[in-house]
Amino acid sequence: MSDVTVLEVRNPVARKAHYCDLCRRIIWPGEQYEAQHNVYDARAYTHKTCAHCRAYASVIWADDDGWLSDAGLDWLGACDYEPDTLWKLRLKAQYRRQWTRTDGTLMPVPRLIRCWVFKPRTCSNGDVRASRTSRILGVTYEPAVTP
Ligand SMILES: [Zn+2]
Repeated sequence: MSDVTVLEVRNPVARKAHYCDLCRRIIWPGEQYEAQHNVYDARAYTHKTCAHCRAYASVIWADDDGWLSDAGLDWLGACDYEPDTLWKLRLKAQYRRQWTRTDGTLMPVPRLIRCWVFKPRTCSNGDVRASRTSRILGVTYEPAVTP
């Protein structure tokens, strides 16, 4: 069994149209997206994700309790995700609409609302320190980039 090796992650602004590998919509020139250069099963590839799907994927990864495959998140995995709150369900519905309104315009990019959670941990020398993780509380929306 192979794992994905991430070689590089960049967040360029599209100069030409690309397809989002998650929602399969067109990433228009002028939109920022994530380009992740990976190796899987000795094959190099670039996984492109629109800014909308980046937020949605972060929510899914935060809820992952082992059901995601070692190959990462794909279209089917994002469709199979079962939200446990109303805001996550709304996010999934927007994903399935490819972040596009009925009039054809692009929805705003979801921005994650996070909080830090501190937990005490004891070091090998007996000192007590705080370890920090973030938790996603919900989303807000920023205006869409008009291509
Ligand atoms: Zn997308």
